[in-house]
Amino acid sequence: MRKWAMLFFFISALCFFGCQKKEQKDLFLNFQNWIEGQGKLRVLSTTAMIGDLVSQIGGEKIVHLSLIVGDLDPHSYELMKGDDEKIRNADLIFYNGLGLEHGASIKHHLEKNDKAVALGDFLLKFHENQLVKIDGQIDPHIWMDITLFAKLVDPIVENLSQKLPLERSYFEKKGKEVKERLLKKDLILFEKIQQVPQDKRFLVTSHDAYHYFCKRYLADDKENDWIFRVQAPEGLAPDGQMSVLDIRKVSDFLCKHQISVVFPESNINSDALRKIIKVCQARKHRVRIAKSPLYGDSMGTANSYLEMIEHNIDILVSHFLREQE
Ligand SMILES: [Zn+2]
Repeated sequence: MRKWAMLFFFISALCFFGCQKKEQKDLFLNFQNWIEGQGKLRVLSTTAMIGDLVSQIGGEKIVHLSLIVGDLDPHSYELMKGDDEKIRNADLIFYNGLGLEHGASIKHHLEKNDKAVALGDFLLKFHENQLVKIDGQIDPHIWMDITLFAKLVDPIVENLSQKLPLERSYFEKKGKEVKERLLKKDLILFEKIQQVPQDKRFLVTSHDAYHYFCKRYLADDKENDWIFRVQAPEGLAPDGQMSVLDIRKVSDFLCKHQISVVFPESNINSDALRKIIKVCQARKHRVRIAKSPLYGDSMGTANSYLEMIEHNIDILVSHFLREQE
């Protein structure tokens, strides 16, 4: 038996390091391809979600690279070895803005950079009424509502066209197709989550990344109090700074609405959620942590931005409906 266990451990370790090596190799090849440029416009995006939109709109006219990949946290991301080379060599940089990328080194490089475009500023200028403010601070998680994120297509098309004016009609055509795809999927996902009765659509996650998601997919149409459907022990950025009061607040919420499942996020540890579950247990209310994590600040293993949001909707629908049985 011990022999089999050793063999299993050995094979698992080989697979793990093998996969890691392959990931590193892929990243290196992407970078090599990007830096060589092949005479195309070199575009850099901070998050993978923005990167997905940009590479679809830019198509064959650009080479594209995302800076913050895998499960790295965009809130606290600091420039790593090689990142300054990417920033220096990019012809155009897209970032989320609205305070998302607030690590000192990356913030400094983006805000002082003429080539960098804060897409969130476009929403602030033209769609401010659709931005959520929490204690006076704008919530930067704009990708959580597909209809809101789709509005970024226009500034992406415009900025790519300014760099390559002869390709404007190409970018406009691609942008139109991307927007249609996004809005079509948004409706499908919206209808999917409507299967869950509205009195079951309450969400507890690790950090406050789901306001836009809640407003679009969990709330009833034109519901003013939608914000009370979502709670998290950590604030807009998952910095681990929680008080006993935060834990208590979320536990009260779970007990009040008789919610029996909380959702971890792929890039945040679940210690806070475990503490909350203990408090609930002491109050004779049973709560469990969902096995599959939601994707909050990163695309996790999803292959695209839409796959990321669909993953979240599918996890929630299956758990919410199971809770009803
Ligand atoms: Zn976040």
